[in-house]
Amino acid sequence: VTRPNCFPYLKAIAIALAVVAIPYGGVEFVLLNHALDRGSEELNSAATRYVQRADSALSEALYSLKTVQEGGFADCRGASRQALANEVQRSEHIRTIGIVDANGLAMCMEPGGRLATATLLPPYQKDSPTISIGIVEDANGVRSAIAGLHIGNGDRLIARLSQETLAIDAGPDYLRQYMQADVRLSDGSLWYRNGRLEEDVGEEVLAETVRSTQFPLRASVTAPRSAVRSLVRELDIITTIGAFGALIVIALFVLRMIRQQSDLGIIGEIDAALKRKEFEPYYQPLMDIESGHLLGCEALARWVRKDGTVVSPAQFIPVAEASGQIFEITLQLMEKVNTDLAELYRTHPELKVSVNLAAGHLNTRKIVDDVKRIFGKGPIRYEQLVFEVTERQQLSDVDGARRILAELRSLGAKTALDDVGTGHSGLAYLQKLGVDIVKIDKIFIDPLSSDRNSNAIVDKLVGLAESLEMGIVAEGVENFEQIEILRQLGVTTAQGFLFAPPLPKNLYLELAASLLPRADDDAIANDDGETPEAVVA
Ligand code: C2E
Ligand code: CA
Ligand code: CA
Repeated sequence: VTRPNCFPYLKAIAIALAVVAIPYGGVEFVLLNHALDRGSEELNSAATRYVQRADSALSEALYSLKTVQEGGFADCRGASRQALANEVQRSEHIRTIGIVDANGLAMCMEPGGRLATATLLPPYQKDSPTISIGIVEDANGVRSAIAGLHIGNGDRLIARLSQETLAIDAGPDYLRQYMQADVRLSDGSLWYRNGRLEEDVGEEVLAETVRSTQFPLRASVTAPRSAVRSLVRELDIITTIGAFGALIVIALFVLRMIRQQSDLGIIGEIDAALKRKEFEPYYQPLMDIESGHLLGCEALARWVRKDGTVVSPAQFIPVAEASGQIFEITLQLMEKVNTDLAELYRTHPELKVSVNLAAGHLNTRKIVDDVKRIFGKGPIRYEQLVFEVTERQQLSDVDGARRILAELRSLGAKTALDDVGTGHSGLAYLQKLGVDIVKIDKIFIDPLSSDRNSNAIVDKLVGLAESLEMGIVAEGVENFEQIEILRQLGVTTAQGFLFAPPLPKNLYLELAASLLPRADDDAIANDDGETPEAVVA
């Protein structure tokens, strides 16, 4: 039987997680791979652009140097220097052009003047190539690339490239801010650096290196993986939201399946309990609040398990109503009522016992046959029976229900409308169904107090019941103040914990024995009204 616990919820969430985790993980994996692939491509193309830029700047510089050489200006004469200065002017990348001797000392530099003496290149060696590339760093730490062209005797024409040559805007928006670039010659000397490459970024990075095919240089571009991932951030969010939604939908679905299964489980348990006849009526007394007499009782179903635990009807009646097992349960209850109360009700024909019917009972005549079969031969007489129909449940066929109630009434039984005031159909039922008694629900009895306003509903119900010539029972009476007010309002019958809760058979019989006047009481009672038994006790 369902105990209120969180196990089904945890199970549903666990299953939903298991179902969602694999596709979610798969999509995330694909997204990440896509981002990494795209990121690598972007870094590669950025590196390629650096290399292309370096290549074209160096090519241009060497071309300029060759033009100077071929024009016969590869010396430090005044006219030559003018030609060098013109070449610098003309070129986009070249900052200075000059001539360096075999020792690497500058002989002249344009712009700059005749006697620039700084060492700019390593001394010329016999096996040095005609074309050379080097990096120089000035006193301020600014680096430039130098293209050299051997012009004979160890003398070299050199062109120093501007800083801006490689300051290009490479890479897409989402990476630019995080990207780091590094252009080096093959010997490892650094020409250009952009970004925080030297700092430890503290996380895994993606790196791409592209080598020039023309010159001995390479460009390396890196970006942190998190920046690369940001390409798919939106898809990432959508996927995560989607997965979360799927998680909830699946969890709810699984929960419903678990519920259905556990209902199926209960149905099986109820079947077994029916076979073992574990359903028993408990009896809650109904009292006449004017005289204090016992009027009878309401039979309330309990499932008394083999181990003695008593299951409340809320845990099995709804399932049994849905499954149709309520018919068998009611049948067994009525059989037990007929035997439990046989002696008491035979000797006290004025006592009543109420039996609760479900809405389903009023869809078929079966209940009439069951009642006849069980009570037809006594000892409990039809006149001692009351059948309660709850207003809480919608009746599918009110006319049919009225006919079935009419048949029960024609046997001599009474009918009652239970939980009056709580249903959707309202008091229209009262007239349509043909009932003898209305039972006013506990929620209207609870607020009864000396404040007249809070009694208005009960007052109205009483007026209505009286005008329709119906009996009234107040349900769920828990204190004497309520009794007092009910009396004032004209209610004479009440049921509630104030008198007794639903009692197992033996206790109900004992209670009845103590409350009911016995046939021979008058004869043996003492003057003060005590019975001899009470005196002995
Ligand atoms: P109900 O027919 O309205 O029965 C009255 C319920 O109110 C009982 O709960 C009873 O124990 C409780 N009650 C009575 N006096 C007081 C009181 O002063 N204070 C409080 N707090 N409660 C009070 P129970 O026995 O748990 O039954 C619950 C419901 O289960 C019943 O409500 C009825 O709708 C259904 N039920 C019980 N037995 C059967 C049955 O044999 N057949 C059908 N169809 N339904 C049944
Ligand atoms: Ca009832
Ligand atoms: Ca009730």
